[in-house]
Amino acid sequence: MKRIHTSLIIFNILTCILFAKGKTNNIIFITFDGLRWEEVFYGADSILIHSDDYTKNQKQMLKEYWHSSDQIRREQLMPFFWNTIINQGQLYGNIRSGSIASLENPYRFSYPGYSEMLVGYVDLSRNSNNKENNPNITVLEYIHNQPGYKNKVAAFCSWDVFNFIINEERSGIYVSAGMESYDRGRNNPKIGLLNEIMLQIPVPWRSVRYDAITHNFAKTYLEEMRPKLLYIAYDETDEYAHEGKYDKYLNAANQLDQYVSDLWNWVQSNYYYKNKTTILITTDHGRGNKDIDSWRNHGSSVNGAEHVWMAVIGPDTPPKGEMANHEKIYSSQIASTIASFLGIEYQNERTVAPMIKTMFYD
Ligand SMILES: [Zn+2]
Repeated sequence: MKRIHTSLIIFNILTCILFAKGKTNNIIFITFDGLRWEEVFYGADSILIHSDDYTKNQKQMLKEYWHSSDQIRREQLMPFFWNTIINQGQLYGNIRSGSIASLENPYRFSYPGYSEMLVGYVDLSRNSNNKENNPNITVLEYIHNQPGYKNKVAAFCSWDVFNFIINEERSGIYVSAGMESYDRGRNNPKIGLLNEIMLQIPVPWRSVRYDAITHNFAKTYLEEMRPKLLYIAYDETDEYAHEGKYDKYLNAANQLDQYVSDLWNWVQSNYYYKNKTTILITTDHGRGNKDIDSWRNHGSSVNGAEHVWMAVIGPDTPPKGEMANHEKIYSSQIASTIASFLGIEYQNERTVAPMIKTMFYD
C-alpha cells in the first residue's frame, strides 16, 4: 500500500510540473473586428455621436448611448463587459490607465492581426487580406492535434477569409465562415431555418455574413457538439466603421456584448461547462484617433490602429477588473495564453510569444 501511495504522489507532482493545469477545460475565444479600445473603455465618442455626418437618428442614439459620465456611457454600450467582466474577470487596453495592449505586426489590418494572435508570432509574409492559406500553424490547429482534442476544436466566423487564416484544408478543423451553410450536428430545425434565411436576407458586404447568423451557428454547435476550444469571429463593427456609420457601429458593439453575455450565461448554466470554461475576447486592430474622420480607418499609416484591448473571464483568472499600469502586452501572446488555460504548452517551429501571466492565478 505504502509503495503505491508514494508512487501516486510522485505521479501527481510530475503531472503538475508537466501541465500546471487550472480549472479551465474549455475555451471560447472571441474576436470583434476593429472595435476600438476608446469605445470599450469610454463608451460613445462625444464628437462622433453628436455628428450629423456619422450618426443618423441622433435623438434615439443619444438616449441609448449618451451620458456625460464615461463610466455610465460604457455601461450603456457594453453592459456585460461593465457589470460582469469588470467584477469577475479582467479588462486590458485602457491606455489612459497605463494598460497598453498592442499589435506587434506593422500592418494593422485583419489577416495579419488574426494570424498574429492565432499563430503566436508575426509572419511578415501575412500582409494581405487575400484568400491565401496560412503557411503557419495556428494554436487552434496545434491543440486540435493534441490527444483528446480531435474534432473538439471549431471556428465560426462572419468573414470568409477565415477558412484560409486557419487553413481549414490542412488543419482539418471545422471552420464555418462567410456564407457557408451549417452542416454539422443533429437535424436541428433552427439550423435549417438559419441556413435558408442566411441566403435570403441581402447582405451589403461581399465576403461577410451577418453576426447574428454566426452567433446562432456557434451557439448551436456549442450546445450539440460540446467543443473544448471554440473560436467565434464577429465582424460587423469593422464594416460599419469603414462606411462611416457610427450609429450602426455602436449598435453592433452593443449587440456583440449581448452575444458574449448570452454565451457566458449559457456556459454557467450548463453542467459540462460551468466553472470550467474561460472566455477570452479581443480585436484584430484598432482604428485611427487623430482627426475626426480617422476613426473609420486602420492600416500601417493610421495612428492608433496598433492599439487593441482584451477581456477575460473564467475560473483561472483573478477578478482584477480593469487593469492598470502593467507591462505592455501583445496580440502575439494570445495563442500561448489560450494553450496555457488548457494546460498545454504551445510550441511551434517559430518563436512563440509568452503567455500573459496576469490572466492566471499565481
Ligand atoms: Zn477593416
